[in-house]
Amino acid sequence: MCFYSWRALLGIALLGSSCIAAGNPRHTFASSGTLPLLLTVPHDGDAVIAGAPRRTKGTVVRDAGTRSLAEEVAGLLQEKTGRRPYIVVALVSRAQVDVNRREIDAIEDVNVAGNEKAEKPEYVANTTNAADAYREYHAIVAAYVAEIRSKFPQGALLIDIHGQSEVPTTTFQGSRSGLTVTRLIRRFGASALTGEKSVLAGLARRGYGVNPPLMASGLQEDRRFNGGYTVFTYGSHRDEGIDAIQLEFGRAHRDNPALPLDFADALVTFMQNHGLLEADSSRRVPASKLPAPAGTVSHELK
Ligand SMILES: [Zn+2]
Repeated sequence: MCFYSWRALLGIALLGSSCIAAGNPRHTFASSGTLPLLLTVPHDGDAVIAGAPRRTKGTVVRDAGTRSLAEEVAGLLQEKTGRRPYIVVALVSRAQVDVNRREIDAIEDVNVAGNEKAEKPEYVANTTNAADAYREYHAIVAAYVAEIRSKFPQGALLIDIHGQSEVPTTTFQGSRSGLTVTRLIRRFGASALTGEKSVLAGLARRGYGVNPPLMASGLQEDRRFNGGYTVFTYGSHRDEGIDAIQLEFGRAHRDNPALPLDFADALVTFMQNHGLLEADSSRRVPASKLPAPAGTVSHELK
């Protein structure tokens, strides 16, 4: 049994330790798992860091409902397979820290207080906690990716879970048009992304609009949602990465109380058909465990 503070986790990741990440993160929810699956949730935090500046560039909208989606899916996977995915959730509001960007773009390192046209604008540098939150999140993700690589050399999947409201009835997949799932495509071909056993197909079969369309001839993805910093940093195009996909769930899909179960079923089918889970590992989910209809309240921050 090994216990480390989150500050040590990045070093552990670099050393490839198989120790379970532990410690007491302040700005991140982290839960270790037993499946070769890591769910990351960068944009559903609502915690505010006192004194840290609000971001003035880039998107600050909250991906409402994505944390509960990840946690419900984790519970359903436990019921279905007896094993749990790893989960990492950023707790701080995206309005202050956007962990799905490079650090230099993720936080405002200088805040202009008052009118920029003033002769002597007052610059307030107050970023220590915001930077800590950013680095904590990525230290934990990196440590989990290293642990998963060590425990599951046959392959593993990271899904970066987002929400978008531009096209409410569509869920977009982003992998930099196949780059961040280089290993998956090498082993199973492009059908792993849009074929009948793909995660997208599992959702489409249950009535969800998806993009790219199923059985697409190429790997081209919508440029608005084709994969951000997280999948690019931890994807399998890098020697130390794992296959990584970004999913941008449409607002109407997040409002659908059946989404956690449908997504969990899609993940089981994908994992069973791509070497991540034994084919006979799924169990029936007792009706009592099905998610209750949820009056999901959209509380996106502008
Ligand atoms: Zn997002």
